[in-house]
Amino acid sequence: MTERLYYLDSHIKSFEARVLACEEKKGAFEVILDKTAFFPEGGGQLGDVGFIGGVRVTDTRERSEDVVHFCESPLTVGETVKCELDWDIRFCRMQNHSGEHIISGIVHAMFGYDNVGFHMGSEDITVDYNGYIEPQDLRKIEARANRAVCENLDIRADFPSAEELETLFYRSKLELTENVRIVTVGDGLDVCACCAPHVKKTGEIGIIKLLDAIHYKGGIRIHLLCGFDALRDYHKRYEQVKTLANSLSVKQDEACEAVERRLDEFAQLRFKYTKLKNELLDSKIAAIAPTEGNVCIFEDEGDYELLRKLADAVADRCGGICAVFGDNGHGYNYVMVSRHVDLRAASKQINSALSGRGGGSPAMIQGMASCDRETAEKYFSEV
Ligand SMILES: [Zn+2]
Repeated sequence: MTERLYYLDSHIKSFEARVLACEEKKGAFEVILDKTAFFPEGGGQLGDVGFIGGVRVTDTRERSEDVVHFCESPLTVGETVKCELDWDIRFCRMQNHSGEHIISGIVHAMFGYDNVGFHMGSEDITVDYNGYIEPQDLRKIEARANRAVCENLDIRADFPSAEELETLFYRSKLELTENVRIVTVGDGLDVCACCAPHVKKTGEIGIIKLLDAIHYKGGIRIHLLCGFDALRDYHKRYEQVKTLANSLSVKQDEACEAVERRLDEFAQLRFKYTKLKNELLDSKIAAIAPTEGNVCIFEDEGDYELLRKLADAVADRCGGICAVFGDNGHGYNYVMVSRHVDLRAASKQINSALSGRGGGSPAMIQGMASCDRETAEKYFSEV
């Protein structure tokens, strides 16, 4: 049974311990110590990483009464080794997790909703509640949580007796009556059963920032970040807004308005562009003299919709096949329309002559050709 130092003090960053076992399994060395401050994954919080005897620990998990450290190299059984947590990672996790407890405590007090899902991801953490919360209420919850940070309240963790548990109200109520670890924020701002290490004072959490919130399984899923992770997120977003504002040559707090204006202008330009493009297409069609034979047209772009429109309109003025080719950068996209020739029947011969592939209906085929322009023009002038 591993002695859990993280229960005694959540702020132990380094310690010495004796190696009790080391076994190689699936490329990792599973190490068990007589005591550890490495927290094994649980309560939604990931397992700690760090170093044991200079060897990297990539994960920590619980296995019955033991804590298993997954190491990159073997350690000698019986030796006493120096152990060190990756404190930056662990502290950020505690900031996020303690912040989540505060939010969940406030949500429960205000609405009676339970935390029914908690996930600490690499980007942010998510909490699911079994009821929906309006955006204006989320702002109130966020403000209350940050006030609790400023009040620098104590966060305690203890194991109450079975009798005490009977009368205690706490979230995440368990069927168990012994060894239930209760984490309490302040004077009952939140009381919750939880096995993970937490910061000792709410002031250590830093800012608690609610991010996106979506309707989820009849309730709500809230994304949030606390402390240094929230600071990193702020930095990332700040840089994005700064870059955006600079590229639009506006002040940062005018960036959204400027984007809306640009999108408006873009929509108007697109409308004008489409109109002009159609007019150009009409005049192109009008300039093509009616013929009893085939027509072969080349366009600069491979947009199938444009090729189809052109081929369909010109097909009315030709007695053979109207073939329209559009440059696609490495050959041609093509659309062929005919009112007189069965194109589906002819497609095999056409594709073989044009080094192409494609097909369609008797009235229209489309595909790609890798021949040069001369070959295509020659083919349609002779067929
Ligand atoms: Zn927890």
